[in-house]
Amino acid sequence: MTDISTRAREILERLGAGNPFDEDGELVARSPIDGGVIGRLRAHTPQEAAAAIGRAQEAFELWRAVPAPVRGRLVRELGELLREHKHDLGALVTIEAGKIVSEGLGEVQEMIDICDLAVGLSRQLHGLTIATERPGHRMMEQWHPLGVVGVISAFNFPVAVWSWNSALAFVCGDAVVWKPSEKTLLTALACQALIEEAARRAGAPDGLSQVLLGDRAIGEALVDDPRIPLVSATGSTRMGKEVAPRVAARLGRTLLELGGNNAAIVAPSADLDLTVRGIVFSAVGTAGQRCTSLRRIIVHESIRADLVSRLKAAYETLPIGSPLETSTLVGPLIDEAAADAFLRAIKRAQADGGTLVTGGTRADGVAGGQYVRPAIVDMPEQTEIVRDETFAPILYVLGYRDLDEAVGLHNAVTQGLSSSIFTLNVREAETFMSAAGSDCGIANVNIGPSGAEIGGAFGGEKDTGGGRESGSDAWRSYMRRATNTINYSTELPLAQGVEFS
Ligand code: NAD
Repeated sequence: MTDISTRAREILERLGAGNPFDEDGELVARSPIDGGVIGRLRAHTPQEAAAAIGRAQEAFELWRAVPAPVRGRLVRELGELLREHKHDLGALVTIEAGKIVSEGLGEVQEMIDICDLAVGLSRQLHGLTIATERPGHRMMEQWHPLGVVGVISAFNFPVAVWSWNSALAFVCGDAVVWKPSEKTLLTALACQALIEEAARRAGAPDGLSQVLLGDRAIGEALVDDPRIPLVSATGSTRMGKEVAPRVAARLGRTLLELGGNNAAIVAPSADLDLTVRGIVFSAVGTAGQRCTSLRRIIVHESIRADLVSRLKAAYETLPIGSPLETSTLVGPLIDEAAADAFLRAIKRAQADGGTLVTGGTRADGVAGGQYVRPAIVDMPEQTEIVRDETFAPILYVLGYRDLDEAVGLHNAVTQGLSSSIFTLNVREAETFMSAAGSDCGIANVNIGPSGAEIGGAFGGEKDTGGGRESGSDAWRSYMRRATNTINYSTELPLAQGVEFS
């Protein structure tokens, strides 16, 4: 057994997940740090998935009767457990997803933050009182729990995405059945152990949170089950295009958080020191494996050469290697397929006339892991490969002459998740954020497109799927709305003046 495997097993024990391994299991838990096997796990069968959904349904029927502020206690307990175990869970994220230590911890902090937000929300799930046209009547909205929420998640935010959905769903009175990525099974089991402990402490019903391990077939069991009114699916646009029509065919709801192809416009007035820092973090953080990773910069021709040479210098000092070393800034890609996709995309960009400015090759790292040198490719135009999301650290550079052209290039991709402009010109900044500017769900000024806080609604348009999670009024997706009209008069006036006597 490798050191990494031993460490992962010790963490699982400490987090209360015990020893979940089964030598005959068909699923393999690996670490991208060295590609080594941590252990094998058994996949759930479709019958087990159906039974888990049944248990969640029973728990939901009890939970929805618990007053929302009392439900908040479950999420408060989860937040406390996450604080207590932040270092262990963060380290497990590093081991299983390959994130650097600081980003692993950051992901757990994001879970703590959403718990705080959800506890507050548990006292604020309020509807409207609406003026009625009928005398002696009152009209209002109530928000009720929705049911069992199915959560399908991607490998790159193995724990935060579950918490964004679950913390809100639990205070909204729902139960959750989670199908994590088949690449990040252990972090899911750790979260399940923590929520079960939180449920014991809070006196929440058994079965409120279920986890199902397996590949897309288990995801499809959630997608097709009519007992699940909402499927919240995070992953590639390909996955979303498969999931959405199947859920729609049974008139269920989806909340889709899919691929991005995020860009930053760099205007002539930009503070270039700050811009370079913002770009490098967004393009290279998590080894370019964030949905919000910066993939395209659209830079004014007057500063293009200067910006590219500053970025090249910054890229060439990036420490690449084991994410367990605190000095590392670029860890491994998740697997060999990801490294192959990276190398293929670089070749295609070069074939399209792109100039490789730096990187674009394999890098030394830990033997067995898939380490690459983040690439910058200066492109003559926005070709098909630039418009695709390659889930790896490739930053394409495009030039522009006026802001209309920059916004046109910016929006000429199918995805619409996150975006930025670096400028000190208030007209450019406001235009970029206006209806005629960025068509993304997130539009930032003087910060990169990645690294959102939980207080804002998170999600994007077009091929990103249109879903919104996390802050603002995203909680409404996890509830159903009832409009109530109450007649406290002795008459029965009909709306629109209809007479029926
Ligand atoms: P993926 O689409 O391969 O897998 C995501 C999840 O969907 C996995 O759990 C997988 O088993 C499941 N799945 C796949 N096909 C399915 C199907 N037909 N039915 C049901 N379930 C199915 O994505 P990935 O490689 O794990 O993650 C990377 C992708 O996720 C990128 O495109 C990235 O941009 C996107 N992502 C988006 C967000 C966001 O918030 N917009 C966040 C994280 C990741």
